[in-house]
Amino acid sequence: MLCGSNVDNFLPGGIKQELFSQHHIIGGGYRDNSICPQCGSVDRNRWFMFVLIKYTDIFFGKSRVLHFAPEPNVSERIRSNMNCDIITV
Ligand SMILES: [Zn+2]
Repeated sequence: MLCGSNVDNFLPGGIKQELFSQHHIIGGGYRDNSICPQCGSVDRNRWFMFVLIKYTDIFFGKSRVLHFAPEPNVSERIRSNMNCDIITV
């Protein structure tokens, strides 16, 4: 979703901590298929991009985005839309 690579598997990532598994925290803890071997994006980044593409029009028209705690690869992708003003905090 971020780099567009077609990979068979993602690399393991995250940290094994009981808190994450006890509370079923999505995007936290150790995951077998998390990191893209091509661009280094993690599953949380790709899920965020999926939601942005599917449920917003920030890549398809003029828009303004206020991005808190921006992930560099996600904010770079948003900035690729020349019609989008993005402010990162
Ligand atoms: Zn990638």
